[in-house]
Amino acid sequence: MTMPVLELQKIVGVEHVLINDSDKDYASLDRSNGLLKSLPLLVVRVFSQTELIDCVRLCLSRKNPLLIRAAGTGKSGGAIASPTTIVIDVTGLNRIISIDTDNLLAVVEPGVILAHLKNAAMHQGLFYPPDPASQDYCTIGGNVAENAAGPSTIKYGTTRDYLLGGTAIIGTGEMIDFGKQTPKGVCGFDIASLLCGSEGTLAVFTKLTLRLLPYPKSIAACIVYFNDEESALYAVNYLQNRGHRPKTLEYIDAICLKALEKHSKTTLATAQSALMIECDAGFDDGARQEIDAILHTLTPLSPTSYTKATTKAELKKLWHERSLLSEACTHYMGYKLSEDIAVPLGKLVMLMRAVKEMSKPPHLMVGLFGHAGDGNLHVQIMFDKAELAAAAQELCHELLIVVVRLGGTIAAEHGIGLKKKAYLPLEQSATLIDVQKRIKKAFDPHNLLNPGKIFDV
Ligand SMILES: Cc1cc2nc3c(=O)[nH]c(=O)nc-3n(C[C@H](O)[C@H](O)[C@H](O)COP(=O)(O)OP(=O)(O)OC[C@H]3O[C@@H](n4cnc5c(N)ncnc54)[C@H](O)[C@@H]3O)c2cc1C
Repeated sequence: MTMPVLELQKIVGVEHVLINDSDKDYASLDRSNGLLKSLPLLVVRVFSQTELIDCVRLCLSRKNPLLIRAAGTGKSGGAIASPTTIVIDVTGLNRIISIDTDNLLAVVEPGVILAHLKNAAMHQGLFYPPDPASQDYCTIGGNVAENAAGPSTIKYGTTRDYLLGGTAIIGTGEMIDFGKQTPKGVCGFDIASLLCGSEGTLAVFTKLTLRLLPYPKSIAACIVYFNDEESALYAVNYLQNRGHRPKTLEYIDAICLKALEKHSKTTLATAQSALMIECDAGFDDGARQEIDAILHTLTPLSPTSYTKATTKAELKKLWHERSLLSEACTHYMGYKLSEDIAVPLGKLVMLMRAVKEMSKPPHLMVGLFGHAGDGNLHVQIMFDKAELAAAAQELCHELLIVVVRLGGTIAAEHGIGLKKKAYLPLEQSATLIDVQKRIKKAFDPHNLLNPGKIFDV
């Protein structure tokens, strides 16, 4: 296969086709995951939709595999290319085309940074809810490809709930306009939902239409501490069964609280577990009233203490502590693997018990924190010697088996990519995987779009 360098240079200019190893090195790994690394054939940087479409079509016409790379913050190796793959970097495609206050819509190029869209919407009194922790640097295109989510999923859902439609190129080189501009619409198959979470394997997004909501009028939060881990996890569906619908319901277990204490000058209390609960409301003071009602409902579960956050500064401080958790767990024992799973709400306590049994103190410990309100926890497998890496990996495998046995999912919000490809059959039958391979073939008959991700075809 010859490299179509000259043709690509004609489209984007000589300086935007990167051939040297040192230039293309940044595109060889996920920014959060240095374990998987592979240099692509070359990297092309595009700055307009026309350049993107022309580059994609050129690769497809040459039967050259291609991969769209955005911010590279995915956590499952989705943006890692094989040595024969051309990477198309879309971070330069970052225009917010419109924020339509009449129709509560945003139209964006795929390389728009999530936080930029959220801010632009907020300035118009509108709200784009998806809130992955990487929001300051990940892109909307990457979010759609991964169906990214975050703490607010319990109330607002995932990226899929906000993707109305868009324009994309499929593996035949054809352009499709998919979806709709209304929250409702049952015209034909729901292609927007199918493409959302397809990890760049079915289509390349060139433009996306997103749903916006009115911006809430009030926000308030609290952190509630418990004497044991079961009570906090029990509280997760106890609250929801009693009619509360907070915006976030985050769980932190004892070892993760300890890791945070060691890592930062935390103001969180030393406790066996904690729940961080945030509420928002469409009227002034509504969120604070909801937090008070939640604290009242929790009284029979005997929390040991709580702290409220109602001002902007208090809220910022609380979420800052939360944002340090992953890093704190990385440093706690020196080494860490982390898993992103979800189980049905009623199984959270069973999952926690199973995880504690897997711990092998003092050298290999398992901690849990995350978006418990929707059953999604980030399992932290921490160990103190490099030689324990294989044991930690084995523990991950055991964990995923338990998760599936509990009716959960092995990939809640970080995708399958390369990292979890081998584990897909744990959750899905051979028939279901085969149906997906046939769908892949319909969109991408020559297997040129991000080949080798999710499954081999
Ligand atoms: C510190 C940190 C915290 C995170 N927290 C969360 C979290 O709370 N919740 C959560 O859900 N995720 C989280 N993530 C992971 C999250 O999936 C990514 O941050 C984000 O969704 C990927 O966006 P990106 O721009 O980095 O895409 P990339 O990593 O560049 O790409 C990811 C995938 O999307 C595909 N893709 C990108 N753009 C396009 C396009 N235009 N067309 C077709 N395919 C495309 C790529 O080919 C690749 O397969 C976190 C990551 C980090 C590093």
